[in-house]
Formats: sequence, structure tokens, C-alpha cells
Amino acid sequence: MIRTRLATFAWSLAGGVALTSAPVGLVTGQGLRVSAETRSFITVDTPVVALVHVRVIDGKGSPAQDDQTVLIEHGIITAVGGSVAIPSGAQSLDLTGRSVFPGLVMLHEHLFYTMLGSATWFVLNQEPFSFPRLYLAGGATTIRTGGSVEPYTDLNLKAAIDSGRIPGPDIDITGPYLNGPGLPGIYQMHALRGAAAARKMVDYWAELGVTSFKAYTNLTRTELKAAIDATHAHGLKITGHLCSVTFREAARLGIDDLEHGLLVSTDFVPGKAPDQCPAGAQVDSSLLALDLASAPVNELIQELVSHKVAITSTLPVFETFAPHRPRLVEGALDAMSTDAQIRYFDSRSLIAESADSTNLVLLRKEMAFERAFAQAGGLLLAGSDPTGYGGVVAGFADQREIELLVEAGFTPLEAIQVATSNGARYLKRETRIGSITAGLLADLVVVRGDPTTNIRDIENVELVFKRGVGYDPARLIESVRGHVGVN
Ligand SMILES: [Zn+2]
Repeated sequence: MIRTRLATFAWSLAGGVALTSAPVGLVTGQGLRVSAETRSFITVDTPVVALVHVRVIDGKGSPAQDDQTVLIEHGIITAVGGSVAIPSGAQSLDLTGRSVFPGLVMLHEHLFYTMLGSATWFVLNQEPFSFPRLYLAGGATTIRTGGSVEPYTDLNLKAAIDSGRIPGPDIDITGPYLNGPGLPGIYQMHALRGAAAARKMVDYWAELGVTSFKAYTNLTRTELKAAIDATHAHGLKITGHLCSVTFREAARLGIDDLEHGLLVSTDFVPGKAPDQCPAGAQVDSSLLALDLASAPVNELIQELVSHKVAITSTLPVFETFAPHRPRLVEGALDAMSTDAQIRYFDSRSLIAESADSTNLVLLRKEMAFERAFAQAGGLLLAGSDPTGYGGVVAGFADQREIELLVEAGFTPLEAIQVATSNGARYLKRETRIGSITAGLLADLVVVRGDPTTNIRDIENVELVFKRGVGYDPARLIESVRGHVGVN
């Protein structure tokens, strides 16, 4: 408590958010302005950097290439290959035994963390201090948030990161959840009513700088259609975590992306009433009864693919609800406050003690669905979704998502592709980010080991480059120890 008050005091002394857009003093070797605070996490800062003797995983699915050189000049990748001339004056980093892959492009992130108030209360705690650092430390150099509960905070954080004041990833801010009434226990969401209200919300937040929208569980088809059209009129994209509207209906209305995949689809609920969100148990039983190899599932996948609707995989949040799964890694636990750790372990033991393995079966079904969707030509995206009951921690969970994609049957190269160039394609930024290609921004992750043979090596992050500036992940993580759940 004292720590929080002191931080608030220091923040107001510093001028609060008014400073987020003010120019900051120090200039990095790459010519970027950063604050002294941001500078303290930077370990590689020369205009020209050569990564030598490194294994390259390009993010496009090509086989990994050993003993390569990646040349970075002024924030841009200028050459990749086995024999690259290194300009004099370049800083050479010998990365023998290391692999490099593109900075992760993760599309279902949040700048908040769930603290259960009670069994029926959800409190979504904004994490403005810890989460931007943890995303960057985990290798996520670009994130799209998947819905906001403090959109003004999110927009100010983005501005603070973009100006170099605080360390963090590039962020596409998704506006506040577009939802109708009917979500008891969540008091941080506005409940809109009617198509005009949906349009008004989209217009308001798009004008303030939000670059993505998300429809939630209790909208009518008319409201969803109005939100889709308004979003597209701003040249932006809209995704959904739907329930009242089925996937097929949403695809036909023109939605761009669907979050979570099969496990939130109400397409298979017998006798589903239009515009009504069925109870969770009804959705679960419809999915348990579903044969993934059956024609209705195939037809739904075909419909999504033909309408170019992407699916965002969020396996880490589903994993927390399933029994007999590994617990959080030590690093993530260390980042959490004691209170957040206790709540996590309490919920986890309730799940372990109940004999109910429904969520384990559903997790496996979701994995199979994501494989089938990708194999049918669908654009699969990756995210961590730090929600649920907690226990999904920025950065760490993004690495976990990639490991779970491998468990789902993707090769490590494919899983990394989903979490890098697929995300860039969705954001229409594949000529700037998402792969290790000459001409693209030098957003890169260096890990010890070889994730193509042991995917868990993606956890061994040694260096994260954003625009050619190298950040120390250990220092970033250490700086937020005990903060997740608090701020
Ligand atoms: Zn979410």
C-alpha cells in the first residue's frame, strides 16, 4: 500500500500523464529519444549491430539456418545470410549457441490482470507498470490488446511507450468492450443498447486513437453489424468474443477475427435463440458432443475461411481452467504480488480437487480445431489473454501460447510463424514487422538454445530488440517483481 502511494506521489510530482507526450532527453545510438528510465534497460545501443554465428528462425516458416549473420543498421534489418560483410564500426555480438526469431506479434493481450473479488466478482486490475515491461521482456514487440477497461490509460501508455518515456511493445489499442447488458459481476464494462449506440462508441474511441475494436458476448446481430460497419468506415478492424451471435452469423456480417476459437462458439447449441447468449454449461455440452471431423464443423471452418475471418488462439487462459496441467513458471510467480499468488493457487486447487475434467477435454478439442482451421487455409493468430481467474501473466503467457501450439500439433517453425508473421499479416504490417527479412524493422528476440528442437527454449530470452535497440529482459522482469495484481 505504502509503495503504491509513494509511486502515485512521485507520478504527480513528475507531472503525471501530461509528460507522456513531452520530448524526452536521451538519444540512443539508433537515434531514438528515450527517458533515463527506459535507457536503464537498454544494453545494445549502437547504430550498426551485427548478430553473428546465430541460428535464424525467420518467422515465415522456412527451415532454421545455422551460423548466420543478421545486420542491423539504424533500426532496420539490412542483411541476413551466411556471408554478410560487416561494416567497420559495427558492434558484433557473437551469438554461438543462440537462436534469433522475429519479435512476437501477439493479438489477444490486455493491460490488466484479473483479481477475483469473490466467486462472483471479477475485478480487472490495470497493470500500467508491470505489463508493458513483461510483454517486452517476453519477446512481444507488437501487441494488440483484446479489449480495454481503462481505455484512457491504455492510450496514454501507448503514447508514453512511443515517445520513449517507458519501455514496452508497440501497441494497437482495442477500445472498450462493445457489449450489451447482461454480464452480472463485471462492473467495468459499459452496456450499450441499440445500433446507434454501437456506432457512437466506435466513432468516439476511433477519434481518440483506438485502432481496433472488440465485440463481446451480449450484442444483438443488429448492434454487431452497426459496430462492424462503423469500424470499417474508420479503416480499422474488429474482432469478437461472441456468444449471443454465432460465428457463422458474424462471418456473414463481416467480422474480421474471432477470439478464442471453438470453445466460445455457440453455433452448435441445439435450439439456440437468436441474439441470446446461452448458458456456459449449454455451450460446453454442445462442444463435448461435437465430432471435430464431422461435416458441420468442416462447413463452419470453410465458411470462416471463405469470409477471410481470422481466429485468435488463446490457449494459455484455457489451460488455467483445466486440471492436470503444469503450474505457472517460477518467473511468472515471482512477478506476481503475494495476494495474486494466493488467489491463483486457491483457484487452481479448487480445479484440481474437483473431479471435473471437462475443461481438459475442451482444451484438447480447441487445439484440434485450431489445427484444422489452419490446415484449411485459415489465418490463425496467437494471443495469451491474461484474464480468466488470473494466472496468465504478460510475456510469460505469450511464450506459453507458442509451446501450447506445438502441443496442438504445429511444428515449432509453424507455431513461431503463427505468433509472428501471421499477426503482422492480420495487422497489414508484414512489410514492416513479423519476419527476419532485409528491409524490415529490427524487432528481434535472441534466445539461448534452439526452439526448433526444444520449444521451451523460447523462454530463454537473452535480448529483445525493438527497432534495433536491445533491451535486457532480466532487468525488465526484475524491475516489476511482485507487481502483477497491484499495478
Ligand atoms: Zn481477453
